[in-house]
Amino acid sequence: MSRLPVNAVIGLSRAELSEALLPLQIERYRAGQIFDWLHKKRVSSYEEMSNLPAQLRRTLAEDMPFSYPEAVSRRESEKDGTVKYLLSYPDGALVESVLMHYRHGTSLCLSSQVGCRMACRFCASGILGKERNLLAGEMLEEVYAVSALEGERLSNIVIMGTGEPLDNYDEVVRFVRRVTDPEGNGLGGRQVALSTCGIVPNILRLAEEKLPLALALSLHAVRDSLRHELMPGTRAWTVRETVEAMRSYAILTGRRVTFEYILIRGLNDTEEDAQELARLIRGIPHLVNLIPVNPVAERGFCRPDAAETAAFKKMLEKCGINVTIRREMGSDVEGACGQLRRRRMEKLKAGPST
Ligand code: SAH
Repeated sequence: MSRLPVNAVIGLSRAELSEALLPLQIERYRAGQIFDWLHKKRVSSYEEMSNLPAQLRRTLAEDMPFSYPEAVSRRESEKDGTVKYLLSYPDGALVESVLMHYRHGTSLCLSSQVGCRMACRFCASGILGKERNLLAGEMLEEVYAVSALEGERLSNIVIMGTGEPLDNYDEVVRFVRRVTDPEGNGLGGRQVALSTCGIVPNILRLAEEKLPLALALSLHAVRDSLRHELMPGTRAWTVRETVEAMRSYAILTGRRVTFEYILIRGLNDTEEDAQELARLIRGIPHLVNLIPVNPVAERGFCRPDAAETAAFKKMLEKCGINVTIRREMGSDVEGACGQLRRRRMEKLKAGPST
């Protein structure tokens, strides 16, 4: 039996890898070679590590196995070139990753869990619940596999795909350290962002981690009753507590935080909502990102039109708020916010005839 779970090896730092190799009693420099094969040359099997003895390659494959996820499907948006991948891990777990092209570079929207247990009512990712967490190594493989398939280096990573990253705290923190590790992947810390539905104790923990990470909160409602109805996974905390945790994050890290706010016609888009939002976040270095709600067939929420969205933006600006409207990407490949879903999984569950 292997000593490490499948794909855990990719989530190890250079020092941790050296330590994990100690029982094999191999030359010390081998650890550096293996680390470079994994993270610089990014090979997808030990077989390809041509400067290692064959016996060592076989031992490694048994002791610390890894296997890149396979691309089950690739859909490219005709509107904006956004590419949505469905990736399959060796245990059959399916996750989606979305690649977006901007003028400033290429951004990957990454999944942190297989499914999600937060059950936000407007979001397709939670419809089937959570299957399991992803390991840090598996998230790195999402990055490596998609950039290899596309032949592109990524300039930004946003942990905003399927899953609640702060519900998979340890592995997500490990992932952020590894993906920004100058010895490994080496992505600049300014280029990694994480969005959470607001698991308050973990926002406070994250603030102490000294991580190079931009943090966003999915706020979406300013009244407890509405927020708890829309986002049942957040019922343990009030809106105020959640926003105050974000204030602490901004103070402790010295970084501006983002508040995401889905606009749903008739539910959270009144003048009182705008004023209360402004009052709540007063004094926090912030950006408010408005997202007109995307259609999810089962949900039936109404999205405001462009004029209504602009009017809400204006109301916030009148209160001194920095606000942008999220540019929608990949809607025609169901890659837009909240549309990620395991459609193939649903098909499998529905039976072979569909
Ligand atoms: N669990 C994390 C990250 C995943 S969702 C979180 O809650 O932040 C990424 C963003 O898409 C979140 O802001 C989420 O609230 C938003 N989103 C979900 N469903 C949506 C929909 N139907 N329309 C627009 N945005 C949606």
